Amino acid sequence: MAKVYFASARAKKWKYSESMPGKLERLLKETGLMDCFSPKEWVAVKTHFGSEGAHRVVRPVFLRKIVDALKRVGSVPFVTDTVRIKGLDYLEVANQNGINHLSVDAPVILADGIYGNDSIMVKAGEILGEIAVASVIHDVPAMVVCSHVKGHINAGYAGAIKNLAMGGVSSAHRTRGWKCGRGSMHTIGTGELAWDAEKCELCHQCRDICPLDAINFKDDKLVWDGDICWRCGRCERVCQSESLSLPGDDDRFMRSLAESAGAVMSTFDPKKMVFVNFLMEIQPECDCMPAADVPVMQDIGILMSDDMVSVEQASIDMLLKASPSSDSLASDKKIADGDDILMKLHNRPYLLQLEEAERLGLGSRTYEVAEI
Ligand code: SF4
Ligand code: SF4
Repeated sequence: MAKVYFASARAKKWKYSESMPGKLERLLKETGLMDCFSPKEWVAVKTHFGSEGAHRVVRPVFLRKIVDALKRVGSVPFVTDTVRIKGLDYLEVANQNGINHLSVDAPVILADGIYGNDSIMVKAGEILGEIAVASVIHDVPAMVVCSHVKGHINAGYAGAIKNLAMGGVSSAHRTRGWKCGRGSMHTIGTGELAWDAEKCELCHQCRDICPLDAINFKDDKLVWDGDICWRCGRCERVCQSESLSLPGDDDRFMRSLAESAGAVMSTFDPKKMVFVNFLMEIQPECDCMPAADVPVMQDIGILMSDDMVSVEQASIDMLLKASPSSDSLASDKKIADGDDILMKLHNRPYLLQLEEAERLGLGSRTYEVAEI
């Protein structure tokens, strides 16, 4: 049975060792999980840099603790993420969110280059066939996967699986385009973006959020450039009148997340990955949205394991036991104690991600928690 280590967010004494940075330091020192990394080995610390308005990312202080722990075993760490918007803009987002070489004491780099198309095709599975894994993540021998746990409009729940599945691959492959990138999970077929003129409020949020300027308005009519579009779904997600839709299928999406995460994991020796889930600032939506709403529950803590599926199951089990916060999306939706908060927030079959990941042999949903 996989072991999942837990540090609670509660600080019951005014001591550094009771703080979250202090507890993360203890997790990294006392669990022995960092012993899988070797002296002189390059190790990626995979996080999500956030977006211009989404500031609730894994904070730099925690990334720094992980970098310090890797340096203690003699490894050579760097912090990385894949390109979501234009690469140089994305590095600036990281910098604005406090993630830079000075703060984390390691290089902060883009895993698939400043154009976001530096990736290598890897066999995935029945749904995706192949997927374009970011070249740096493909080539690096070891990785600590730092995931900000939260809700998600498409995935229902977003943690380590989604961090690897979407964050470990490119938006588009250099020669094979979006069909082998993230868009292959977001949509099906040719992924034609549909616009409902009747519902559209002409707010232009879809145009403003598009990283490629693939949406424009001419005489109050939406013009979409399907040739350059990544099928990232950002326009669809910010459209609050539901005027935009990419063809999709929830079950396929969840299973494809597991497939893609499996493809990324297949580029590592199984003993060379550690997963750290941060159940903090648990907002209802993804870190790539243009704003971060208030958390839907209090901070819970940090979970750490070498089994991705176990750490995900333990995270979900803890989220489901937590009380929904007042004056949040949870209270707007009248979610009460004991409800399945993840299902009630976004009505998506989120557990399928874990079921499929377990079926694919990526880990076990059976675990035991050891609290430090
Ligand atoms: S975000 Fe939606 S409502 Fe606003 S302009 Fe775009 S399609 Fe219309
Ligand atoms: S899916 Fe929407 S936001 Fe993403 S690249 Fe295409 S048009 Fe732009």
